[in-house]
Amino acid sequence: MTGSDRPVVDVVVVGAGLAGLYAVHRFRRAGLTMRVFEAGDDIGGTWHWNRYPGARVDIPSVDYMYSFDPDWQRTWQWSEKYATQPEILRYLHHVADTFDLRRDITFNTRIDAARWDAEGAVWQVEAGCETTTCRHLVMATGCLSIPKDPDIAGIGRFAGATYFTSHWPREPVDFTGLRVAVIGTGSSGIQCIPHIAKQARELIVFQRTPNFSLPAHNGPLAPGKLEQLTDESGYRAAARLSFGGVPIERTMTPTYAATQEERQQRYERAWQIGELLELLNVYSDVMSDPAANHELAEFFRAKIMATVDDPAVAEKLCPSGYPIGAKRVCLDTDYFTTFNRDNVRLVDLRRDPLRSITETGIDTQHESFPADAIVFATGFDAVTGAVLSVDFVGREDRTLEQVWADGPQTYLGLTVQGFPNLFLITGPGSPSVLSNMAVSIEQHVDLTAEIITHVRDHGFHTAEPTETAVAG
Ligand code: NAP
Repeated sequence: MTGSDRPVVDVVVVGAGLAGLYAVHRFRRAGLTMRVFEAGDDIGGTWHWNRYPGARVDIPSVDYMYSFDPDWQRTWQWSEKYATQPEILRYLHHVADTFDLRRDITFNTRIDAARWDAEGAVWQVEAGCETTTCRHLVMATGCLSIPKDPDIAGIGRFAGATYFTSHWPREPVDFTGLRVAVIGTGSSGIQCIPHIAKQARELIVFQRTPNFSLPAHNGPLAPGKLEQLTDESGYRAAARLSFGGVPIERTMTPTYAATQEERQQRYERAWQIGELLELLNVYSDVMSDPAANHELAEFFRAKIMATVDDPAVAEKLCPSGYPIGAKRVCLDTDYFTTFNRDNVRLVDLRRDPLRSITETGIDTQHESFPADAIVFATGFDAVTGAVLSVDFVGREDRTLEQVWADGPQTYLGLTVQGFPNLFLITGPGSPSVLSNMAVSIEQHVDLTAEIITHVRDHGFHTAEPTETAVAG
């Protein structure tokens, strides 16, 4: 029996966040039958789980939205330049309601394993004791959805409350009157620390690597801004063709073509705009010339030194030892001024390493810090974590773990040799978290839909990248 004779659903989509929701809409429009499995109890993905205080998008709200409906401007309005997590979640619910996207989704269901059946040319997808047979399998599981194990001794011994920014409780947490420890100063830590500091009696921030962070200069969305971005304006089309998924005019001027005074003015302007892509676009060689990069980094360090009252604390907060832009630059609201508060203390783990978590708090090599609550802002098993959490067995019984033993190998970040009809939306090797995810997601889902419909309409059963395609 060939694959075409088998009763199968055309596609299984895993995940109902930004990518999964668009996949449902796009695949339905292509006339494909579908099952969608979501581990959470509702839609939203990242924006369903990351409910920590201060969680916001770091791409302007008007750019962080779907482009497929030219009528958005009439049915949705953002309140701020950078929307908060609750507002983004409301937006996703608005989209799901408008397009009736929930009816294909099975919630509270995590995919454990998927095996390629070569004879039938189908995937057997296992969730608990249920197996679903599908022709194509689309992983819309996100790049930052599986929390990284913080790997800190004694983590289970702590008698107080523990929270992970990546899985924040639904009900707001009240830290009033408490001694709170936050471990981690990446994007999530930098966003939640100013909020927790305003509530807590005492806040101790445990920093291993200081980060570059740009003040967001957030505020109400400029009136009429969204209304200008109609299909006719060409804005969304330009976003799809742009470098990072936001249409900005890329500078062609190298750093040292400008005078020192001009350069300082240019850095200051970018600082005041408060947009990450504008910042890395100040000069054409910031990401390629070490001297140019160092000068911009120095501008950031000077800003921190000028903002933080205690020079010793300021110096600990200054990122060093790696170029600006090598890690995603954070976007903050009042992060550095938070360290001027009397109830906030910074612990530099590079000078005084973390030893263990105890029943009553956190021990470093030189000191004990009592705490009532610990917040872990310790990040994710990024990009490959969610994909490898599924036990994939492809052609010739080879597992994905085996094939990726020396690191992930894909074609365009989307497909993997030896795993026919498997699609990884914004997978490893694609621009993913280095771009505007809203745009990159639509591009990957559109390409996936085109491949799947091509396979269907031309009497094929499978699509798979060649070795040459993956090597290229
Ligand atoms: P992250 O950037 O990976 O930061 C994790 C932090 O925890 C780092 O400071 C890390 O230190 C620290 N850490 C991890 N394990 C530790 C340990 N055992 N002991 C001490 N410190 C430890 O994670 P994130 O802040 O959740 O952000 C991840 C990504 O999510 C971002 O890059 C961004 O792409 C995205 N994000 C975006 C937004 C937004 O749009 N505004 C908000 C949040 C997150 P080291 O650096 O030394 O490892």
